[in-house]
Amino acid sequence: TIKLSNLYKQFGDHIVLDNVSLDIEQGDVIALIGGSGAGKSTFLRSINYLETPNSGQVEIADLKIDYANISKADILKLRRQTAMVFQQFNLFERQTALENVMEGLVQVKKIPKKEAAEIAAKELEKVGLAERVDYYPKFLSGGQKQRVGLARALAMKPELLLLDEPTSALDPELVGEVQESIIQAAKAGQTMIIVSHEMDFVYHVATKVLFLEKGKIIEEGKPEDVFYAPKHPRTKEFLARHT
Ligand code: ATP
Ligand code: MG
Repeated sequence: TIKLSNLYKQFGDHIVLDNVSLDIEQGDVIALIGGSGAGKSTFLRSINYLETPNSGQVEIADLKIDYANISKADILKLRRQTAMVFQQFNLFERQTALENVMEGLVQVKKIPKKEAAEIAAKELEKVGLAERVDYYPKFLSGGQKQRVGLARALAMKPELLLLDEPTSALDPELVGEVQESIIQAAKAGQTMIIVSHEMDFVYHVATKVLFLEKGKIIEEGKPEDVFYAPKHPRTKEFLARHT
């Protein structure tokens, strides 16, 4: 179990995460939904300390971390356990698809280059990019770039994969291929939290749905319960607008 306890974040006097707690079981696919400004990105980014929570704790793998008092060594350990996929891909433009996937394996995990190249090639094959390993990002479509981003994250074998609107920057016809790769990773047992506005996809992929509003989880449950029998009026209203 990954345990997130009382994540709290304030920007100035604006409370963006209001003591959010969440237990995540191995293989869970947690979908985080909610309106713009609810705090979804801040929550994901706080988990791996790209954003600095004011307080809160996480237990993941053999780590027990207090965000308010985290050492540099623990930040690195935490990042190894929590790979992230970004809306805007964030690939290195001067590296091929293969080199992009190898980067973390070599730099962070200190895996020898030859072995890292083999792992990277396998991960790229899993997302359907065996033919594109030597392409630079500028010669890849948005969907292909995002699948490289996913392969790069999965190659790290993170305890928890964090995906922040991974398909929202894509042309509509490219959304499906990326969602399909995420579904494959979920089927392979990858634990993840995914922020998405694609409600069909959320319904299909999630084991659990969380509705975040003003920095609080106001509703959570199985997709069928949250989608077909939402309890909170705000969830009802949100789903009426998004489905
Ligand atoms: P969206 O669906 O639009 O991506 P979100 O749920 O991801 O929204 P966040 O990006 O987490 O929302 O932002 C939550 C709130 O925190 C917003 O009101 C935002 O303006 C504020 N916020 C986010 N980052 C900062 C920052 N660096 N400085 C000040 N305020 C910020
Ligand atoms: Mg966001």
